[in-house]
Amino acid sequence: MNTDPRRALPKMDALLAHPDVSARRRTWGHDAVADTARKVLANARSNLKGDPAPSLDQLAANVSKELDGLAAGRLRGVINATGVVLHTNLGRAPLSRAAREAIEAAAGYSTVEFDLRTGGRGKRGTAVNALLRTLTGAPAGLVVNNAAAALMLTLGALARGGEVVVSRGELVEIGGEFRIPAIMQAAGVDLVEVGTTNRTHLSDYANAITDRTALLLVVHTSNYRIEGFTARPGLDALVRLAREHSIPLVHDVGSGLVSGALGDEPTVLESLREDADLVIFSGDKLLGGPQAGLVVGRAELVGRLARHPIARAVRIDKLTLAALEATLMTHLAGTLDDLPVWRALRLTPEEIRPRAESLAQRLGGPAIVREGTSMAGGGSLPGEGLPSILVEIDPRPAREKTLLERLRAAEPPVIARMEKGRVIVDLRTVPVEQDEELSRIIQNALKESLESLPEKRDKC
Ligand SMILES: *Cc1c(COP(=O)(O)O)cnc(C)c1O
Repeated sequence: MNTDPRRALPKMDALLAHPDVSARRRTWGHDAVADTARKVLANARSNLKGDPAPSLDQLAANVSKELDGLAAGRLRGVINATGVVLHTNLGRAPLSRAAREAIEAAAGYSTVEFDLRTGGRGKRGTAVNALLRTLTGAPAGLVVNNAAAALMLTLGALARGGEVVVSRGELVEIGGEFRIPAIMQAAGVDLVEVGTTNRTHLSDYANAITDRTALLLVVHTSNYRIEGFTARPGLDALVRLAREHSIPLVHDVGSGLVSGALGDEPTVLESLREDADLVIFSGDKLLGGPQAGLVVGRAELVGRLARHPIARAVRIDKLTLAALEATLMTHLAGTLDDLPVWRALRLTPEEIRPRAESLAQRLGGPAIVREGTSMAGGGSLPGEGLPSILVEIDPRPAREKTLLERLRAAEPPVIARMEKGRVIVDLRTVPVEQDEELSRIIQNALKESLESLPEKRDKC
């Protein structure tokens, strides 16, 4: 008698015919399902070490699990209960209603490069550049994929093969591998560091300028702050120095605060007023729009950027274009509260408190309300918390990690933070319409995380 368990292993045909596996073919197509089934069978075969062969149902379940795992990393909407307004890992700025509608409208055929008046070819970005000029008063504007690309393009188009002078205090690293020295190198320019980490003087810049100097670069130290014994020349002084040597001054302001006052954030308008030749900023930080890199400034320089081959490689897509146009229109209208980022940033503790109290009340015993801070995030306003009212949840006897895990497994997933054994929910970043849903999800997660505790056995 042959006792080889391999012969007891279900056959490929039987596995493919299993109703669960067969059903997966509708979403995954035949080939992906067959490849996965083959892999699952091969695995099962090599794992047979005298054990009984897995049943057809077990194998079918493994096929489903494999396929689900492949889709698990797809983008999903989440509830951001962290209180970090521009959460880079959660996609920075949530888009406004108008921006979402514009994306929907542009998603089909749209006038990306089509001129409705002439019926002929149009230029991508014409409208967005006009909106940028109108909003900032700058003579020219250009939009690319993100601010890192905008800086790369600027350096490549204006300084390739030459030297770029930057203060040592501004050689920043921004989340996601954006490092000024690395960008410079990739753009083919020689970095000339001047001054020290905490103090750089006008004379440091002046002494570093040679006939190889192509431009002066000023970078906002978005995500950190140097305090104490510090010095740096004003932008106006640096602009004058650049003029004397007939080289451009480029200011990377980072977060895209257009005007107004918010902590120590530099604004685009201020920078233009001080006559920076080019100002670079991000679309998805304080501007509150989609990921994009915006450049405004002198027409001759912007023109050189627009004609450079890198510009084509880092051009903006139609969905982003649509969302950015809508976001810029909101800035023009001055209705910043229509932008979720600004609504969240401007919420006062008094506005958050009743929502927090109502949530805590619904969660009952394990939740209390206390004062705390939210963060702007996205490299904006480093070191400045926004006063908030937090809901602090005691997960005991389950652990806080278990509760956070349950929250992430919910539909939609909820992302919260932990602090000293507690789970912290900050409603600043939760749209008020989601309060109800959030409360239901936390209630369920609390229940589930208790149920998942290992059973206590009482032997007495
Ligand atoms: C965030 C930031 C960038 C990068 O912006 P992305 O749009 O993410 O590429 C560049 N420079 C500064 C100063 C920043 O704060």
